Amino acid sequence: MQKVKIPVTLDPVKAAQKRSIFDGIVPLQNLTRLTESLVEKQGEVAVRIECGTDEQGLAVLNGEAASEVTVRCERCGEPMQLALGSEFVYTPVKGDDDAALALIPERYDVIVRDEHGEINLRQLVEDELILALPLFPMHDAADCNISAEAMSFGDIGPEPEKPNPFAILQELKKK
Ligand SMILES: [Zn+2]
Repeated sequence: MQKVKIPVTLDPVKAAQKRSIFDGIVPLQNLTRLTESLVEKQGEVAVRIECGTDEQGLAVLNGEAASEVTVRCERCGEPMQLALGSEFVYTPVKGDDDAALALIPERYDVIVRDEHGEINLRQLVEDELILALPLFPMHDAADCNISAEAMSFGDIGPEPEKPNPFAILQELKKK
């Protein structure tokens, strides 16, 4: 079956009234802020978003995004596979409507509609996945090219060596 691309933008209120369901993909190439952190920039994100209206009358987008990505291990520097995933529930608001904002239950994330009443789904998915990225991705100790023993000897650390400012001062004094 041909995979459908998720629309870039969407009128969430109309989609909620129609109870639209989007089930498709976003190509990773379209998510350049995310791929900055990835080794492999080819691939796709599987996305499913269900639109509906809750008992309070709010438009709600219930969704999930998942992708198998390749990042660099912070310990050994080699590429590693990572299953990136996020589940989210958003309700759309107009940017300047503080009264409406105050009524939104805490379980929802808020997404601001633009002047055309639309939201950017692609950006939403990208933001979710960027937030899901671990700050310091690392292989499991058993799979890593730098073993835990090597680490404990302190020969090879995950941090690059920083020049010691005092060492530089000493060099200067010698001259
Ligand atoms: Zn590693």
